[in-house]
Amino acid sequence: MGREVWPDIAFQDRIDSATFRVHHQAHIVVDSAICGDCSTRECIVACPANLFVPTSDGGILFNYEQCFECGTCYMVCNREGAISWDYPEGGFGVVYKRT
Ligand code: SF4
Ligand code: SF4
Repeated sequence: MGREVWPDIAFQDRIDSATFRVHHQAHIVVDSAICGDCSTRECIVACPANLFVPTSDGGILFNYEQCFECGTCYMVCNREGAISWDYPEGGFGVVYKRT
């Protein structure tokens, strides 16, 4: 079987066309207690979906619903246990349009 070739479209267009089948259970959980003394906060700038929002008390507000499942937050965070990361259950999560 031949290799599938995805259409050559701009990154932003692919991101903008994504839809989400949201599971009731979060596939990523952020422990705000661990985030509390994190001074670097790489997740805020690294997440392409802007799902990490700093709160006035020094914590992090995180919503999993529109996650692109890229794994960037998990890669950039250097605090053990701050992010519990998994893929959503089968049939849920981000859906990228092919055209
Ligand atoms: S998720 Fe990681 S990088 Fe982001 S604020 Fe928490 S500890 Fe810091
Ligand atoms: S996996 Fe990607 S899109 Fe999802 S929260 Fe982490 S950085 Fe953001």
